[in-house]
Amino acid sequence: MNILISAERIQERVRTMAAEISADYRDRPLTILGVLTGSLMFLADLVRHLDLPIRIGLVQASSYRGAATTPGELRIHPELLPDVRNRHVLLLDDILDTGRTLSRLAEHLRSLEVASLRIAVLCRKIGRQEVPLEPDYQGFEIPNEFVVGYGLDYNDEYRHLPFVAVLPQIESTQD
Ligand code: 5GP
Ligand code: MG
Repeated sequence: MNILISAERIQERVRTMAAEISADYRDRPLTILGVLTGSLMFLADLVRHLDLPIRIGLVQASSYRGAATTPGELRIHPELLPDVRNRHVLLLDDILDTGRTLSRLAEHLRSLEVASLRIAVLCRKIGRQEVPLEPDYQGFEIPNEFVVGYGLDYNDEYRHLPFVAVLPQIESTQD
């Protein structure tokens, strides 16, 4: 497997992002909303470096199945959402690809009257965005390859890897 971002680089970057987020929110209570399942590693590592009053919630939305690279219908499961009304919310995801997932989720959260909404992603794929969306916090820019590890999966495998790597056998499925 071709390692794109080492575990050390991820840890160092997550620590820097946490410092930035802590400084931006100062002591304001923050609700961190992780997008299931890919954000789990990022969420767990990030929150342990945040110096803020934190609530953690999860939201489920899926646009990708298996190796498919064309997003299907995005489903949001509102029953998993904590109460976000009048709260400062930071939406967290593993990767910004077309931008459809995060923009749909952001739209949904705004309709729930959050006090403020920011977006943090660990990775952003270059040249894939179809929906205009600027993340407030971004870990790494990566080339247009299908990556796994550190939360990112291929058919729910590889999420546990501490690094981000390119899966060689399915590189050709991305155009
Ligand atoms: P978007 O809605 O931005 O197109 O897609 C975001 C979602 O697609 C991510 O949360 C992730 O689940 C999935 N995704 C996009 N690119 C990759 C990739 O390279 N590897 C993996 N494992 N998932 C990806
Ligand atoms: Mg995902």
